[in-house]
Amino acid sequence: MITIESLGKLESTPTPFYFYDTNLLDQTLQRVKESSGRYGFEVHYAIKANANRKILTRIASFGLGADCVSGNEVELAIKCGFDPKKIVFAGVGKTDSEIELALDSSIFCFHSESVQELIVINQLAAQRSIIAKVALRLNPDVKAGTHAHITTGMIENKFGLSVDEVIEAKRILPSLKNINIIGLHFHIGSQITNMEVFKTLSSKANQLKNELFPKNSFNYINMGGGLGIDYTRPNSNPIPDFEGYFSTFNQNLVLESNQKIHFELGRSIVAQCGSLITKVTYVKGSSKHQFAVVDAGMNDLIRPALYDASHSIVNLSSNGNILTYDVVGPVCESADCFAKEIPLPQVQRGDILAILSCGAYGEVMSSRYNMREIPYAVYSQEKLEPA
Ligand code: PLP
Repeated sequence: MITIESLGKLESTPTPFYFYDTNLLDQTLQRVKESSGRYGFEVHYAIKANANRKILTRIASFGLGADCVSGNEVELAIKCGFDPKKIVFAGVGKTDSEIELALDSSIFCFHSESVQELIVINQLAAQRSIIAKVALRLNPDVKAGTHAHITTGMIENKFGLSVDEVIEAKRILPSLKNINIIGLHFHIGSQITNMEVFKTLSSKANQLKNELFPKNSFNYINMGGGLGIDYTRPNSNPIPDFEGYFSTFNQNLVLESNQKIHFELGRSIVAQCGSLITKVTYVKGSSKHQFAVVDAGMNDLIRPALYDASHSIVNLSSNGNILTYDVVGPVCESADCFAKEIPLPQVQRGDILAILSCGAYGEVMSSRYNMREIPYAVYSQEKLEPA
């Protein structure tokens, strides 16, 4: 649990900054390895969730693979120690140069999202006289039951191949001599905590696999990421339910003997280890509606504005009476609001607040909007070395 003491000398560090509890990151990684290893599953860390180099280096040192969605992510993953043979590359809009970079880096496999993309990968692989390994990303039309902006597996979402497109892909595949289709990929969305959703996804994957492909077509099945975390009670629930997640797939996916299951988890690995530390600049408002204006803004953490996300916020400086505040940033947008009408020990100018559970889709999405600085990062262990 984060306290002003645990920030130690950081109390005098300029705010805002991301604070990473690297012990919690290690414990989480250990749990992922144990829970996935029990079933022989492989996990690729979804770099999009947090691309901080020290965090990436640490994750790579636990032997996880990487899930990338841009050429720059592929490059960064390799620089930070991920084995190229454990890198997968997804995305609906891979450019030619990104595909070339991935081919030249000998990554494990592409997750292809369109028929045209298959043709382009084939052409670029042919120019290099190599065979590219490719998995088809299928759109299973399964509701994730999460925020619309983080739902990816419905037919109206841009991701993956529809059944019609798979049929077209199968028609042309015999002519694409420089790609080898090794498997199937699914990813239906993020922040999913209801295991029934993963059960439904497993059934749909079984059905699509059987209906569309003959037996023994593949040995690689990637079920994506999506496992959610507890944003409401992070301190009592710091490590997500990896056991429930992996066992749901283990119980519900019907596999052929040579098939290996892979995952690409982002949020569940890094979310709880990060907090955004910010200082109260002003307290203002009427007696009926108080605002705590902090020095972090939506440019530092965009999740509340973009996804209506709510994060627990604690006042690390005060044990005063509980009052009600909107916690808002300095950016000139009404959406620059971290929380509405939340209880906090009485807030004063100069108090330090911690916005919890910010390790995923936080620092990595920061911007220079309003020409503000990009937040920097501080780690609970001074040096974050490989395990
Ligand atoms: N895989 C793909 C293709 C994604 O788009 C995402 C994120 O949306 C992930 C994996 C990681 O998802 P999560 O952070 O929910 O585990």
